[in-house]
Amino acid sequence: MVLMTGEEYIRSLKRRRVKVFALGEEIADPTEHPLLRPSLNAVAETYSLAHEDAYKWLATAESHLTGETINRFTHIHQNAHDLVCKVKLLRVLCERTGTCIQRCVGWDALNALYITTYEIDAEHGTSYHERIKRYLEYVQQNDLMCAGAMTDVKGDRSLRPHEQRDPDMYVRVVEKREDGIVVRGAKAHTTGCVHSHEIIALPTRAMDEKDADYAVAFAVPTDAEGVTLIVGRQMGDYRRVMEDWMDVGNYMYSSSGHETLTVFDDVFVPWERVFMCGETEFTGLVVETFSSYHRQNYGGCKAGMGDVLIGASALAALYNGIMDASHVRDKLVEMTHMNETLYSCALACSYEGYATPSGAYRPEPLLANVCKLNVTRAPYEMARLAQDIAGGIVATMPSERDLRSEKVGKYVAKYMLGKAEYSAEHRMKAVRLIENLTMSTGYLVESLHGAGSPQTQKIMISRQAKFKEKMKNAARLAGINLE
Ligand code: SF4
Ligand code: FE
Repeated sequence: MVLMTGEEYIRSLKRRRVKVFALGEEIADPTEHPLLRPSLNAVAETYSLAHEDAYKWLATAESHLTGETINRFTHIHQNAHDLVCKVKLLRVLCERTGTCIQRCVGWDALNALYITTYEIDAEHGTSYHERIKRYLEYVQQNDLMCAGAMTDVKGDRSLRPHEQRDPDMYVRVVEKREDGIVVRGAKAHTTGCVHSHEIIALPTRAMDEKDADYAVAFAVPTDAEGVTLIVGRQMGDYRRVMEDWMDVGNYMYSSSGHETLTVFDDVFVPWERVFMCGETEFTGLVVETFSSYHRQNYGGCKAGMGDVLIGASALAALYNGIMDASHVRDKLVEMTHMNETLYSCALACSYEGYATPSGAYRPEPLLANVCKLNVTRAPYEMARLAQDIAGGIVATMPSERDLRSEKVGKYVAKYMLGKAEYSAEHRMKAVRLIENLTMSTGYLVESLHGAGSPQTQKIMISRQAKFKEKMKNAARLAGINLE
């Protein structure tokens, strides 16, 4: 059983022949490119942590298939404790990196497919569950990074997959062969895809029989023939390309992971890597299960990033000379309150997790959705408070190049200084970190749309809110006879 270190993981990616485009150009070796290197460093931490004595208990697990020690990111949750560990792991990693560590989507896809394939087989006598188990063993044994590709590009949102004018707006099966299937289409915003060994694709919505060609789940290597990855543009990407690391704010990891438009141009998938093919009645289950897992995560990962934002805000206050002001302390307390509320929700849905017929545990869905809905709000308020503390220079500060300039560097160093005991450079770095956390995609937009936009959580909450039971109870207490 391989338990890769961070360096081994990065080396393992160099063996692939992945087709990646960014800013209009093909990237020969994405592991060396400054645009992508920070997000690669962040994924590498998911490997490094498994080798740290203080965190082995959290970052590794015992495989329920082989009994061997595996990286937790390839584990199928066996009890509520595993679900709690997942949240704690994400918080530790995101606090350490200040960014999205990208390895959770594939992990959630594996767990969702493990649960769903069991149910499909029970209904149809198929053998998808055995397939996912064999595939999982392969992933665990080689300690692979899997991207989860779920969200289709969707075209006209008012139309179902089979109604679209262009039938490729949702990933679909275009050919069934004796040895496998051929798929075509594209998935949007696939987190961490360039740094993944594998892509696991899932349907993005519940479907009916007419959409049978679209009810497909499968796994392919990222360098499979016909797969093209087009890296999404982000705020601040030019700063990375120019290697202006101080202006990137979070110079080692950046404050955003990366996402791709993932194109499947007639990609062949052998049957042993197909985990759903036409069973439309199970698309709702796989989507709902995956969503609960991913919504659970956000109270861990965004709380970890929130820790960084609180720390950066306190640093900015120190350098601005206002650390002892009572309104600053109050703002930091407000931020902490919100941040810990997110974490509490993630822990709550994990402790209330339960076993599915497959044996895998899943988080309690109502609380997981409440968790994520809170995440669509609190980070925005936290960002507002952080920018308030940092001051207007969060949006107007000169660049690192100006600080280093022979001609104007002396002015920048002189006038960007706050409290005299500290340096202008330190103040600028703290403020840059706040800028990048509060104005880039990794913290805010990700909090809003990652794991589904707010409305999707409201739909799930309304389905589980038990309004009728609550009305009956209220009527009983008020002495109203509803008969
Ligand atoms: Fe993991 Fe959070 Fe990034 Fe999603 S947003 S991949 S849960 S760190
Ligand atoms: Fe996400």
